[in-house]
Amino acid sequence: MNDASILILALATQQLLFATGWLLSARYLAGARAAMLHWAGFCLASGGSLLLFTELAREALGGAAMMLRNTGVVLAFVLLRRGLLAFTRQPLRDREQWALFAAFVALMAVIGLAPAQAVERTVVISAMMSWLMVRAAIEAIRGGCAEFGGVPVAVIGSPLLLLGSVMALRAVLALTNPDTGAVSITHAAHFNIMLLLTMVVISSMLHVALGFLVMRRMVLELQHLSSHDSLTRLLNRRAFEQRLAQEVAASRRTGAPLGLLMVDIDHFKHINDRFGHHVGDTALRQTAQRLAQAARLNDVVARVGGEEFGVLLPATDAAGIRQSAERLRHAVGHEPLAFADGLHLVTVSVGASMLLTQEADPEVVLRRADQALYRAKAEGRDRVVFDTLAQVSDGDAATPLRAASRPAELR
Ligand code: GH3
Ligand code: MG
Ligand code: MG
Repeated sequence: MNDASILILALATQQLLFATGWLLSARYLAGARAAMLHWAGFCLASGGSLLLFTELAREALGGAAMMLRNTGVVLAFVLLRRGLLAFTRQPLRDREQWALFAAFVALMAVIGLAPAQAVERTVVISAMMSWLMVRAAIEAIRGGCAEFGGVPVAVIGSPLLLLGSVMALRAVLALTNPDTGAVSITHAAHFNIMLLLTMVVISSMLHVALGFLVMRRMVLELQHLSSHDSLTRLLNRRAFEQRLAQEVAASRRTGAPLGLLMVDIDHFKHINDRFGHHVGDTALRQTAQRLAQAARLNDVVARVGGEEFGVLLPATDAAGIRQSAERLRHAVGHEPLAFADGLHLVTVSVGASMLLTQEADPEVVLRRADQALYRAKAEGRDRVVFDTLAQVSDGDAATPLRAASRPAELR
């Protein structure tokens, strides 16, 4: 066995081990199963094709070994590309890919298996693999940028582009300088040894990059699950409290005002009692949707309890808070919701508060908004009540205690 054959065997073993990894991942990790199965297929097809270079396979299969490994290796690259398309949730372009594969097989049949056609075969296979990898790189970068961001996408783009470049180089070398040994990979020529070593490195880079993206996707999905409410798709209480703490800290730093609203559906229990919990859920979802649509781009809307929502209004002064609170109340109550085969008017009460000068505890501003909401309920519902401390807060944090007994309704 020469050095090239040893490296081919090492590369084949590496691919088959990665195949096991992808099969296990597809079996036990939900989410990107289709992509992982494609990547397992890529490893099996490429690893299997590499094994067909061995003395044993050549003796057993003769000319068929060459035909099989040529098609196997192109099939492998088609599967790698399909896996990437599936992973980045793009159309698989089935017709195009299989037409390409069929064209390749037909071309191989035309070129023939004789040693005299070795240059043509090498050029066609290498050019095809190069084209597939450059395409896959562009598609992966384009399809993954929004979800993963620049760096992770560069992590997957680089081994694909490297692979594409190495294959293009091999095609050019085979065409212009067949004596380098580029034509027959099993020759222990310097070029082949370097090519195979490069392939071992690129293949490792590729699988590390794919594994990294799968893990990144899982982390992003878990983060989303742990911070969002499944019924309304709004942020949940935990995420809301984190954002509140961040916004309070930012306000303290920049001096920008910060508003906080607590919004609670009026007599929601009646909806549940009259139509059932399931219809109640629909009403909740629709209310959440109206609140989210009425909020401004930078506002943070969250479901903080059963039928209770919290809204953060960054960089919003007292007048702005009043306006936002009224807009949200109006968004829900101005026209009925459609559920339980009819139209039903649903209203909300809003407790409004703002971060006071020198106040740094998110809990306190939250409690004051809650108290304002409590008063909105007590005063008849379907209204906005402004926290009394916040009303007198502008430039004067010392007076609030006196003002606390003064109710301040906005309607
Ligand atoms: P008020 O105007 O005083 O706010 O009256 P209310 O009926 O809205 O308030 P109360 O706190 O008495 O009832 C809230 C109800 O919301 C009780 C609970 O069963 C219901 N609820 C909480 N979470 C959910 C949910 O996820 N889905 C449904 N359908 N109902 C929920
Ligand atoms: Mg309620
Ligand atoms: Mg409530």
